[in-house]
Amino acid sequence: MAAADVAIVGGGLVGLATALQLLEQRPDLRVIVLEREDDVGRGQSSRNSGVLHAGLYYTPGSAKARWCTAGKLRMEQFCEENDVPLLRNGKVVVAVQPDEIPRLAQLAERARINGVEIRELTAEETHELEPNVTALAGIHSPTTCATDFGLVAQAMARRIRAAGGEVRTGSEVASIDQQDHRPIRLNSRTGTIEARAVVACTGLQADRTAREAGVELPERILPFRGSWLRLKPEKRHLIAASIYPVPAPGLPFLGVHLTPRVSGEVWIGPNAVLALAREGRRPWSIDVRDLSDALGFSGLWRLARQHPSVAFGEVFRDLWLRATIREVQRYVPEIGIDDVERGPWGVRAQLTHRDGGLVDDFRFERQGRILHVLNAPSPAATSSLMIGDELAGMVAGAL
Ligand SMILES: Cc1cc2nc3c(=O)[nH]c(=O)nc-3n(C[C@H](O)[C@H](O)[C@H](O)COP(=O)(O)OP(=O)(O)OC[C@H]3O[C@@H](n4cnc5c(N)ncnc54)[C@H](O)[C@@H]3O)c2cc1C
Repeated sequence: MAAADVAIVGGGLVGLATALQLLEQRPDLRVIVLEREDDVGRGQSSRNSGVLHAGLYYTPGSAKARWCTAGKLRMEQFCEENDVPLLRNGKVVVAVQPDEIPRLAQLAERARINGVEIRELTAEETHELEPNVTALAGIHSPTTCATDFGLVAQAMARRIRAAGGEVRTGSEVASIDQQDHRPIRLNSRTGTIEARAVVACTGLQADRTAREAGVELPERILPFRGSWLRLKPEKRHLIAASIYPVPAPGLPFLGVHLTPRVSGEVWIGPNAVLALAREGRRPWSIDVRDLSDALGFSGLWRLARQHPSVAFGEVFRDLWLRATIREVQRYVPEIGIDDVERGPWGVRAQLTHRDGGLVDDFRFERQGRILHVLNAPSPAATSSLMIGDELAGMVAGAL
């Protein structure tokens, strides 16, 4: 049986960053990361837009607002130090209808309160910056940039090993058993591990991990799939910065955007539809347990009732490519149906209340010597080093 001071369940960016920060704060500790897949970062952490968010959107004072801005600076530094590519191309949020202009102004105000550098743009200024983008007004965020978070996860695993920690892949934790005054036992396919403290960072499985360990949790993770289209190479020149619409009010999703990638590709998306499996191999994979969990949860139906046009519009656009293209043509008219092909997809883990409200901020819960990360949606990749710092501090303090 292996022994550790701290076992971290889940080798996504949150788990890896926690291990890394823990080893930095307390190099004397034995830290082990247990990841179910055969490599780290295979979940949400590599299947995302790759944007290092500057921090425009988040409720002032929230953990998201505080850690995104600081986390982005640390993530940029981490990328530079570990040879992970960065694309410093900025971002423009565009209003294309008159009713979006007040919401754009509110977003600019929020960005200023959050201390994020922005410039408000007229239609002409937006056109000067991005000649192929049509808008009534815009916000330029020059410091937004992009990376490949899958490579970030790999680099974090290397750094953990170099600092004396262990990253064990192919190691699905089946149960976590905590009894008073005894080490916590984690049972996995690769054996049993005893640890003095545990941090559970299981992303799409976070609610189940917590419940199975004995936490009473009325909320549930709803999985929202986001699919992208890829712009064909001959049209990539159309934009330089990431181009985002004004987000729909009341939901944390940022709308279908265009994102240049560090690879040179440009992705369009992601949309947001209920995933029929939390971790399916294909976009339309069905997992009976996941589906019945979602359909039997009152929060899902209340959410759909509260946002019917978004719910049905997203499914419609997902099925019918032309509808997504029409959406994108509102701000980049030159993109046609023949200029795109279907691209990758990822599934977001979103903790949801029974009344249909989405838990907006990051959320952790302590259960004795186990710390559960219950909600770490976007911008958790950008903020991961700050989240890791916070979690590491909480664990180190408890030991
Ligand atoms: C479509 C999409 C676009 C996004 N775009 C952005 C963006 O541009 N910028 C940004 O900052 N954020 C973005 N995000 C959010 C970001 O990717 C996530 O918030 C972040 O990756 C969460 O990391 P995590 O470690 O919590 O979860 P994950 O990366 O999902 O990691 C959880 C890990 O736990 C493992 N696991 C689960 N159960 C077990 C078990 N029992 N035993 C062992 N291991 C287990 C899983 O295999 C997985 O590797 C996006 C997310 C999605 C899905």
